Amino acid sequence: MNTIKVNTGKAYDVIISQNILSNIGNLIHNVFSKGRAAIITDNNVSKLYLDIVMDSLSSSGFNPIYFSFPAGETSKSQQTLFEIYHFLSENHITRSDFIVALGGGVVGDIAGFAAATYIRGISFVQIPTTFLAAIDSSVGGKTAINLDCGKNLVGAFHQPSLVVCDTDTFKTLSYDTFSDGIAEMIKYGLIWDKELFNICETQNLNDIIEQVVSRCVSIKANVVEQDETESGLRMILNFGHTFGHSLEIISNHQITHGHGVAIGMVIAEKIAVKLGISNKDILIETIQCLKKYKLPYEYNYTLKNLADICLHDKKRNGNNINFIMVPQIGKAQIYPLSIQDLYSIIEQIEQEEKK
Ligand code: NAD
Repeated sequence: MNTIKVNTGKAYDVIISQNILSNIGNLIHNVFSKGRAAIITDNNVSKLYLDIVMDSLSSSGFNPIYFSFPAGETSKSQQTLFEIYHFLSENHITRSDFIVALGGGVVGDIAGFAAATYIRGISFVQIPTTFLAAIDSSVGGKTAINLDCGKNLVGAFHQPSLVVCDTDTFKTLSYDTFSDGIAEMIKYGLIWDKELFNICETQNLNDIIEQVVSRCVSIKANVVEQDETESGLRMILNFGHTFGHSLEIISNHQITHGHGVAIGMVIAEKIAVKLGISNKDILIETIQCLKKYKLPYEYNYTLKNLADICLHDKKRNGNNINFIMVPQIGKAQIYPLSIQDLYSIIEQIEQEEKK
């Protein structure tokens, strides 16, 4: 079992281990001595893990109740959010109680946002059940829902009180969903940790899953401790996300978050090469690593169309967009790129690729 402390404004532990879900009540008891647990989950995860979590919370005296919504990104919506508010209110959940987000990043983001806003904020616990949620979305306090015109456009920073990751839950993931997390893991290697990138390139993840989750969570903790509300350093975690989000939106979420990030990193690296910030070797190595994990790196949309969508994104800053580049593996750079330059560079890339 590994425990990583996240020293943000409100400090909390991330506990990572195999086979700890049935002990969740005891682990939460170390954080909350009383209160009711309102579990938010989705219909896939509830079939697999709700009973075990309910039983453990009941044994620890937390009188759990639950709300389950249809799985998928389209549920990260205002409609589901208001259903959650009604569920909390009808069950008289108060600030002495807490929310338990049981699921992937969609559950974590919307349940976290409900926790941030319902009766002006209540505590919550994250139990990530996807690889992506374990290494990324459950840590750092970003919570949100989507609007039709963009991802995560309504949200809040609200840190959890505890994160508990049982790596055994990954065993029920489809390979596609597991690989969404691999894309974020490759991202950490590229922006922060060359050795982790080498591990991704060479090792079998199943043999080292606990260590890998711990390593990624430590990176995320390190970054968010330095910049909790994304005014600087934390932006590097958005590497590959600018075009990644556009791909999610343009494909009507047929391209999942992690797969969008995989392709988004390739596009960001092509732009960095064109700007002379990075060299082609990094692009080639990244594509090789994505191929190893059967992750996508090509796209059927024009960069112009994708850029049009990016510019609605919150990463736009006036006439600039803060672009994250990787000048060498293990290092990231925030590069404010004017909208005009962005269009001009992608036009050059597209013309060269047509030849
Ligand atoms: P997801 O939550 O949609 O889960 C993917 C699928 O896996 C769903 O169908 C879900 O029901 C199923 N699932 C979850 N756990 C399972 C398990 N153990 N076994 C079998 N099936 C399981 O997607 P995700 O990739 O976990 O998260 C993506 C979301 O996370 C996006 O909305 C993205 O914007 C968000 N995100 C947020 C942050 C943040 O910092 N808040 C960071 C990265 C991504």
